[in-house]
Amino acid sequence: MSAETQYNKTLVLIVDDNPQNLKVLGNILRENTTYGLAFAMNGFEALEFISAKKPDMVLLDVMMPDMDGYEVCRQLKKDPATENIPVIFITAKTEAEDAVMGFEAGGVDYISKPFHEQELLMRIRTHLDLKLSRDMLEDKNKELQQAYETIEKLALTDSLTGLANRRSIMNLMLIEVSRCDRNGGYFSLIMCDIDFFKKVNDTYGHDAGDYVLKTISDIMRTNLRQQDVISRWGGEEFLIMLPQTDLDKAVAVAEKLREAVKSAVMSFAGEHFSVTMTFGVSRFDKGSGIEHSIKKADDALYTGKQTGRNKVVMAE
Ligand code: GH3
Ligand code: MG
Ligand code: MG
Repeated sequence: MSAETQYNKTLVLIVDDNPQNLKVLGNILRENTTYGLAFAMNGFEALEFISAKKPDMVLLDVMMPDMDGYEVCRQLKKDPATENIPVIFITAKTEAEDAVMGFEAGGVDYISKPFHEQELLMRIRTHLDLKLSRDMLEDKNKELQQAYETIEKLALTDSLTGLANRRSIMNLMLIEVSRCDRNGGYFSLIMCDIDFFKKVNDTYGHDAGDYVLKTISDIMRTNLRQQDVISRWGGEEFLIMLPQTDLDKAVAVAEKLREAVKSAVMSFAGEHFSVTMTFGVSRFDKGSGIEHSIKKADDALYTGKQTGRNKVVMAE
């Protein structure tokens, strides 16, 4: 954006109870700048306009009946929605104490009348530039923050299924371990894997395989609790963490999942079929480390695969 188009969009509010003063200031700005201009004749009107339109700058008279300029400025600075709007006092008051009061009220500048026209214009321009670059920085910061959140989410999510990925559940398990160490909690793990998944790909195609992975992820999501963490651990292998769940309960959960998967009809590109899964279940043992608990679930899964598949095996 060029400097001029940027200024075209700026809105300057001039506040003065004296219509003659409004006219003089308005004319100077109109003749020398492309700023948008607005006018208010008292403090209440000014505050109402400021909160509705959020001007980029307020040129504020000090002495006004009912509410003086200092009070207008204080109120504007109190509101987080308007606190960043720069205020320049333009006043007949010339004492240094008056200027100090203006700065204390939150003003960025204080100009006594009679003012030098070019100096006034330059001061307004300087504070406008500062405000516009601050706004731009703030926008960029927001964009960066959003991009960062998107990247973080992507880095922790499996793109096919939307489940947590391996790295993400690993982090969450470590957090759960330290919670257990502190508060004496416990949790269980279910490692599970689709049976003969290679055959699904070979028979119905890779897209059908992807569809099965997504459908199974949905089945898991609907059958588990909010606090459970479901992850895609590898290709067609899932790891589930069940906080505050003992081994028997986790076995029952795995059994429910096994039934749900087995009875789901997969319909893809006119083909209908079903798949089964094998489950290994372990409990996290305090002191033995998370890797050990994962390995126990993995070993139980392997036993299930060796002894017929489509079953739930509890780790010893
Ligand atoms: P088992 O019952 O012993 O687990 O047999 P299996 O066929 O399921 O196991 P195997 O390890 O032989 O094959 C796994 C297959 O999963 C092979 C691989 O191509 C497929 N696979 C892994 N990730 C994906 C994926 O993202 N999409 C699809 N469509 N297939 C995948
Ligand atoms: Mg006045
Ligand atoms: Mg498999």
